[in-house]
Amino acid sequence: MAQVRIIKGKDMTVPVWNPAIEFIEREALERLQLAHLRKTIAWALKTPFYQRRLAEAGLTCPEDIASLRDVRNLPYTTKDDLREAYPDGLLAVDREQVVRLHTSSGTTGTPTVIYHTQHDLDRWTELVARCIAATGATRRDVFQNMTNYGLFTGGLGLHYGAERVGMLVIPASSGNTGRQIQLMRNFQTSVVHATPSYLLHLHSALAGEGVEPGQLGLRKAFIGAEPHSEETRRKIESLFGIDAYNSYGLSEMNGPGVAFECVYKTGLHLWEDAYILEIIHTETLQPVAEGETGEIVMTTLQRQATPLLRYRTRDLSHWVSGHCPCGRGHRRLARIKGRSDDMLIINGVNVFPSQIEDRLMKTPEVGVNYLIQLEKRGSLDRLVVKTEIDARLFTGDPDALDDLRERISELLRSAILVKPVVELHEPGSLPVSEGKAQRVVDLRPAF
Ligand code: ADP
Ligand code: ZN
Repeated sequence: MAQVRIIKGKDMTVPVWNPAIEFIEREALERLQLAHLRKTIAWALKTPFYQRRLAEAGLTCPEDIASLRDVRNLPYTTKDDLREAYPDGLLAVDREQVVRLHTSSGTTGTPTVIYHTQHDLDRWTELVARCIAATGATRRDVFQNMTNYGLFTGGLGLHYGAERVGMLVIPASSGNTGRQIQLMRNFQTSVVHATPSYLLHLHSALAGEGVEPGQLGLRKAFIGAEPHSEETRRKIESLFGIDAYNSYGLSEMNGPGVAFECVYKTGLHLWEDAYILEIIHTETLQPVAEGETGEIVMTTLQRQATPLLRYRTRDLSHWVSGHCPCGRGHRRLARIKGRSDDMLIINGVNVFPSQIEDRLMKTPEVGVNYLIQLEKRGSLDRLVVKTEIDARLFTGDPDALDDLRERISELLRSAILVKPVVELHEPGSLPVSEGKAQRVVDLRPAF
């Protein structure tokens, strides 16, 4: 059961699930990581894939790992490796021991599969329970899970963690906004889990039904599964009058429960007893300097059925320095900037969609939905940013519209060094996705 830890002399309380591991001393944590890493190598060596890869790297047994630093001698595993190994080339246990499989949502191509034993599911559930408790949510909360319950890990992952915490769980799954609102009203939902884009859409739908968010019992939201800016988090918090916590995970590392914000929202605590996380330069593959942005690479430490060594996530982030006031020693990641393959090259300039979102969400007249479109005009790229406007702040004056278009265009130019064509759309007119938002449409020919 979730506990509250009182930090003596500091007059503060911190909600916590598993104090022994969450407040573990660094040295003890590293000893644990090393022991788990050796076990993981032993599991990995049961797959022909890693037998070959590890042999190529000169490693034949777990004892070849003398210290945690030796993780750097292990081979990388890529998404393509997982695709080639599909469906069972990376299965490290007998099939009878496997109780579930999940696949990635396939945002960027053929899916990948991850198998779980009952032990793996129990470990995963515990990690999610820690995340939930760290936000101050408790068994007294009513939790409505608005993410898909299929192969996508967001549904079942959060579901089991929330049950473990003892919350009343409403397995609403994604979509059907009218019913989501009805459930929230009937059962006084106090915590939701959804993609940030879906929560913004839900807010517009509430307004459409004449429901004030304050009439609901909502207190907290867990938001993740897609990149979003600090501005988007603030927008969600102020629109609903709640606290929103960033949740990071990927199906290759179980799903949700990898890293999560605590009540202090100072970055996402990564559960280091379950993962070794490195940040590397995407081209040199060398570790980046402390605090520099690079690609997240992760090694599972507790997974039997599909151990993964140095998995290249393609997600970009950096470590947050210093200590979190909550006292947890598990290091914190900054919010994910995007994927290395999200980067757009527009007339030779590198642009991340998150930079565009950040500026849009800082503009009060901008509504909750937007779309980035790339076109080719002759030999030049053209960037079109389509954005909905906030009905409450807009008067309908055509001069004001022209002025707003120009203001947004200039704001974006100063941030990304490319001047976009800005199109303003009525609220609710741009396509909405029930799962991960599709924000970029690239209409440029492939060559
Ligand atoms: P797919 O890789 O097919 O999208 P997943 O469902 O495994 O399938 O998605 C995981 C990915 O979603 C992560 O690698 C990351 O790119 C993105 N993601 C998950 N959580 C967050 C978050 N909090 N912030 C930004 N991106 C996130
Ligand atoms: Zn903290």
